[in-house]
Amino acid sequence: MRVAIIGGGAAGFFAAYSVRKHHPDAEISIFEKTKKLLSKVKVSGGGRCNVTNGCASIKQLSLAYPRGSKSLRKLFQQYNNRDVMSWFTERGVPLVEQEDGCIFPVSQNSQSIIDALVAECRRGKVNIAVGHMAQSIFAETASASESKLGQASRVWRITFRNSGSQSSASSQSFDKVIITTGGSPKPSGLEWLANMGHRIEQPVPSLFTFNMPTESITELMGVVVEQAQISIPSTNLKGDGPLLITHWGMSGPAVLKLSAFGARYLSGRDYQLKVAVNWINETNFDKVFDLLSEIVTHSPQKIIANQRPHGLPDRLWKYLLQRAEVEANKKWQDLGKKGLHKLTRILTVDEYQVSGKTTFKEEFVTCGGVSLDSVNMQTLQSKVCSGIYFAGEVLDIDGITGGYNFQAAWTTAYIAGQLAE
Ligand SMILES: Cc1cc2nc3c(=O)[nH]c(=O)nc-3n(C[C@H](O)[C@H](O)[C@H](O)COP(=O)(O)OP(=O)(O)OC[C@H]3O[C@@H](n4cnc5c(N)ncnc54)[C@H](O)[C@@H]3O)c2cc1C
Repeated sequence: MRVAIIGGGAAGFFAAYSVRKHHPDAEISIFEKTKKLLSKVKVSGGGRCNVTNGCASIKQLSLAYPRGSKSLRKLFQQYNNRDVMSWFTERGVPLVEQEDGCIFPVSQNSQSIIDALVAECRRGKVNIAVGHMAQSIFAETASASESKLGQASRVWRITFRNSGSQSSASSQSFDKVIITTGGSPKPSGLEWLANMGHRIEQPVPSLFTFNMPTESITELMGVVVEQAQISIPSTNLKGDGPLLITHWGMSGPAVLKLSAFGARYLSGRDYQLKVAVNWINETNFDKVFDLLSEIVTHSPQKIIANQRPHGLPDRLWKYLLQRAEVEANKKWQDLGKKGLHKLTRILTVDEYQVSGKTTFKEEFVTCGGVSLDSVNMQTLQSKVCSGIYFAGEVLDIDGITGGYNFQAAWTTAYIAGQLAE
């Protein structure tokens, strides 16, 4: 059986490993359009490669995917983060888990991950052709003499544009094809897959920060709130976790999470909208009101500016008092019910105008790609072209930051490589 893998990234290499494991006699070839293999792995995680996440349960792991969560939850039963950790450790790449759950090689160098993947493919005698860009795939019938199976069968002919000293075109036939071409920010990059009959979810960016050029909060750049929530009013889109105020707007895990879950919504509004910040990640208005009332009861003589609820950063607290039009030098006992209401409101639904986005360079991914409706999500085989499989970011699957995007690539590649019918 001749198997072509199109794309020499994380999913491509892992798919090659899986094909060899499940089909020891297969002839496996990886085709990569550029001259560089695994280039995203190299730069990932700031050159350290956040290879997966230490999530304790499959449920928790699958919740990190704004798109593909339900399908991945089933696929993780077969191959998950524990399997990936064992895979690298067994191949001499010890891993370490950070406090936030992100997993990196102990070497803190993505090259360790690349070396393990390349060594595995070398051991598995996988052919690797760089400078081969797949342009189209056509079904053709192989005659009994051509077919390795000794009977007439359908094969897939792939045409390539070859780059090199003299660019040229070539074509080769395969029994099975695994497409691992990664995310494509432009719809044109997915046209050849649409031409084969696959539905395409229009690509839009995910994982970005918010620009707030008209908001004075940018003066607080550098301030970090450890547990905040940011949401889009009148929707159920939200992100929680640390929030960082930058000189252009807001960033940090809470914002990145919202940008991922709201990727399509935000794109539809051209990144012009209002967001609401809950500075203490407590949405129950009454609870927050009671919390502030307790300060009045226990510290009535204290100055409001000096007694910060939830240990909010000093600069932020003073800014919020100003925004709520509450006199900072007043005593808590003089705040009054109206003042308590104003403070509760500013802590729980503090609205800001977003005008544009800034891509978070560390971990940019694309939302969109080959629709999961066009793929059998148990085998990852195309529903419209049997014998063609998909894995990695080319699928309409993407995760938040924290090693989840690579995990999706490892899992889908492992399962696609089984070449199950
Ligand atoms: C800067 C950066 C840092 C990141 N850091 C992390 C991280 O730390 N942790 C994490 O989980 N995720 C991270 N990500 C996301 C992660 O890199 C991707 O989700 C992951 O690489 C997807 O793997 P893939 O194999 O599907 O696609 P890719 O890695 O994009 O590989 C696809 C390959 O296919 C090739 N190709 C495309 N079209 C063709 C064609 N027609 N013919 C032949 N070859 C083709 C491409 O050149 C490419 O080499 C990061 C992303 C970026 C951009």
